[in-house]
Order: sequence, then C-alpha cells, then structure tokens
Amino acid sequence: MATPDFIGKFTANNPGLMTLQGTNQYIVGKESGLVIDVALSADSNMDGIIEQAEAMGVKKIEKILLTHIHSDHTGGALALRKRCGAKLGIHRSRKGYLGGEDFQYDDNDVLDFGGGELKVLHTPGHESGHCCFYEQGDKVLFSGDNILGYGTAVIHPPDGNMSDYMKTLERLLGFEMSLILPGHGPLIGKPEAKVREYIKHRMEREQQVLGALRANRNTIGDITDAIYVDVSAALKRVAEFSVQAHLEKLERDGRVKKEAGRYLLLSDN
Ligand SMILES: [Zn+2]
Repeated sequence: MATPDFIGKFTANNPGLMTLQGTNQYIVGKESGLVIDVALSADSNMDGIIEQAEAMGVKKIEKILLTHIHSDHTGGALALRKRCGAKLGIHRSRKGYLGGEDFQYDDNDVLDFGGGELKVLHTPGHESGHCCFYEQGDKVLFSGDNILGYGTAVIHPPDGNMSDYMKTLERLLGFEMSLILPGHGPLIGKPEAKVREYIKHRMEREQQVLGALRANRNTIGDITDAIYVDVSAALKRVAEFSVQAHLEKLERDGRVKKEAGRYLLLSDN
C-alpha cells in the first residue's frame, strides 16, 4: 500500500549502524498536523520537516510526539517546538525527561492530528516508555524502533527488556495493519508477515541461547561467540546485549539462573 497523502516523511541526516539511512521523522496531517520524532536540531533538519509539511498543505505543526527517548528520536524536539510553537508530548513514564514537554500520553490515548486521530500504544521492549502510534482509518502503524524497515530492533538491557518486547510483538498482531512506517529504514508493506518474522527470529535466538547453555557455554561473551560467528567488533557488542536480554528473559521464565556472572540452565524442556 502507498503511504496515504496525509502522511509525509523527512529522513534526518544521521545515517549509521543503528540508524540505518537515518531517523525517519513523520509529518501527519492535512491543514494542521503533528510530527513524530525529531532527530536533529540543525536548521537544515527543521527546514526539511517544515518544507515537507508545507508541501502536504499542513500550515501549522500543532504537536510533536516522540516514540521514545533515545537521542536519535528526540535530539531536535525542543528546537522544533520552539520554532513552530508546537506542543511537545512524551510518554507518561518519561515526564520531564527533556525538560520542555507540554503534555503526556499513555496507552490507548487518542490524539487528534487535524483531519484524523492517532491511537497511542505503549509498547515497551526497545525502551520501557516506547510508544507506537496507530492510525485507525488507513490502518497505519508508526512503529518507532520496535520494528525497523530491515534488520532487527536492538534490545539493550536493563531498560530494553526481551520479555516486554515479545509481549509487544504479540500485541501488535492484534491490530489490523496495512502499512508499518518504521523509525528507520523503508516502509513495510506486509505488516503481519513482518511482525511474525520478528517473533520467529527471537524464538530462534532463544533456542540458540538454550543450545549454547546446554553445550556449557555460560557467560554472555561465550554464548555470543557460539551464536554469532563472523560479526564485526561493533556488531559484536550489540549481539552481546541481545544475548543478555534473552538470558534475562529466560531467568524471568524460570529456566535459567545467574550465579557469579555465569548463567546456568535450570530445567530443560
Ligand atoms: Zn532509533
């Protein structure tokens, strides 16, 4: 499905290993509108967002919403708020985090964007206050960093939580979606298949972690080496966070216990 004409995108110039081509900043609205995520405070970034809004016929940016607090999504939020006189919102759990928010939102709140509404879904996993926004008319999900255009989301403990993340993915399957617009990477035209692929990938990883534990690999480093062969040093660090996140989930599930930095398998079924 093509992106509906009340949704526009301006990708920030912050490409990288974690940000892919850069952070996608979305403009949603008709005559007035809102912006989801602002990565950079540079004038060129704000100009890009405002020009995109004008090209859509959005004369006033009324609100700024944040999917989560990581700096590649919030770095320009206060600057754009000041420039446009927009009201800045953030998840209730992150009240005061940027020091200039005007309102908070929480799960199931409905936010008006001048021509339609977005439903707030509190979707912890990548970050504990993470929110997705769901446009019910055209069934579009703004997924932030919980689902990316390609690759997988990073779950970085302690704030990133694999148990929460798996629940979030399962919950998203309950929404009818025609399109996912992610925080990084290209749009996702087959939403349900993508979410199912994400769930399958995590379940396979969990099995790999259990397999490594059965083979008496007991530290995060050792387990990572067993599972991830041929990764660069930079990605290795990310892989270790992922392994840690899986181990913490298995601990919560009562299948693993941690003792003096080593992870031990408790039950094996
Ligand atoms: Zn991000």
